[in-house]
Amino acid sequence: CYAMAPSEQQASYPHALVLPFPAQGHIIPALQLANKLLSQGIRTTFICAQHRINLIPTTLRFTGRVVALPDKVDLEKEKVDAGVQSLCRSADTVEDMRDSFQQLLNSDQFSDSRIFLISDFLLPWTADIAIKINIPRYVFFPSSATALSVSMYLPSLMAQIHIPLRSSDLHQCSTFIHVPGLPKLLAPSDLPSAFREDCPAESRNTCVKSCLLLREASAIVVNSFSELERPCFRALQNDQRLNSNQTKIYSVGPLLQLDYINCPEFNSEEREHHPVEEPSYTKWLDTQSSASVLYISFGSIAQLSVHQIHEIAHGLEKSTHPFLWVIRQPENCSESTAAYSLLPDGFQIRTKGRGFITFTWAPQLLILSHPSTGGFFTHCGWNSILESICRGIPVLALPQFGEQDLNCRVVVDELQIGVEVEKGEDGVAGREEIERAVRLVMGEKGAELRKKASEWMDAARMASVGSSAANFKSLCNKITSYAY
Ligand code: UDP
Repeated sequence: CYAMAPSEQQASYPHALVLPFPAQGHIIPALQLANKLLSQGIRTTFICAQHRINLIPTTLRFTGRVVALPDKVDLEKEKVDAGVQSLCRSADTVEDMRDSFQQLLNSDQFSDSRIFLISDFLLPWTADIAIKINIPRYVFFPSSATALSVSMYLPSLMAQIHIPLRSSDLHQCSTFIHVPGLPKLLAPSDLPSAFREDCPAESRNTCVKSCLLLREASAIVVNSFSELERPCFRALQNDQRLNSNQTKIYSVGPLLQLDYINCPEFNSEEREHHPVEEPSYTKWLDTQSSASVLYISFGSIAQLSVHQIHEIAHGLEKSTHPFLWVIRQPENCSESTAAYSLLPDGFQIRTKGRGFITFTWAPQLLILSHPSTGGFFTHCGWNSILESICRGIPVLALPQFGEQDLNCRVVVDELQIGVEVEKGEDGVAGREEIERAVRLVMGEKGAELRKKASEWMDAARMASVGSSAANFKSLCNKITSYAY
């Protein structure tokens, strides 16, 4: 994993220690950020929980140094299929990371350099370490500026509504929350799930602490671009209450593989990196007509209930549209036969020819890049949203947890590239609702949504060489001019 960067021997150069939260949606963009820093000649070490190293998709390349932080997760024992990426035992892993990271810093391997941290928003202990050893901590915020606003304005939110939110608060139709920069008022159910009563107290406390520490950061690096969420970025930059500590916010997104953002020929190169899985996906997609296939994936963490899986299956069946569905295999279920039993009886036979189902990690960028893909049924993980935008694909939004309800508001209300799939009182979206949304996005409303999505795709491409490139340059200037 180690390659010596040209600047490696020059101790006077700053040395970025990039530390993502141990989950795919955090590691993938953090690795892109590390790549960008390296490409600017900034000495960069990528530090990752050990059990995650082998789960990093092979298409992601990093030529800098990678350090695996020992943790106690035993993939064999946990029966985790590396293809499914299902593991997210955050609390334990994050605790183990803290101890290992402290030991790493105590070793003499960084003593010759001016280190600073670029650590994930959700690793608040890195702020304690930075203060203790007197180095700057830059926060990496892997999600939307809307989610960043809600996080930074948490004290003002707490003045408006009781946190933790009770389940009765979630269904309060008359309560609305104002967050500066957000064009619309929020409902309590739009707020991150960590603020809810049913979230374990430990996770909620971590999240609250992470939010409160944002204002203390040396800078915040966000995986979005200013054109995408302009009012939000404006409010964040201009609000003196937030900026008393001179915390500058750098929007440098979308942090995706550059060839994915800019190159319509992405397919050909990427296909080479999927020698096993590629033919089945792309061969099947090749047989479908242009923009006709609905791609369905709920990311690397969300676990849908069997009830929800059945409702989706029935909705898809009734919609009559072709689909490619990535179903996350439940933990402790490694046999594909057992996984198929999650689906309603006879579903595969009835949808034969127009449905492709897989229970393993799918090459999402490749699928979204295929001309046959015409819609994305997603949980609104921010990486998935950015990837959809960068391919001009409209979205069916069914948020699951975290800040995904906020991202759903961005997609549906602000960007107008998608349709929300409404859940019932039991939190499950029913088959009729799913059929309605599929027909809308893949049919009557498809052209309008696709037009909008393609406008945002152009904006993303412009930002990657315009506003985000300029912001990244000024971030690098700040890093290299930092007086230690
Ligand atoms: N992903 C993928 N194949 C899969 C599932 C996910 O390539 O089968 C990638 C997806 O392209 C995205 C990331 O994993 O880059 C998931 O991040 P996101 O923020 O969308 O959701 P999360 O997994 O964090 O909930």
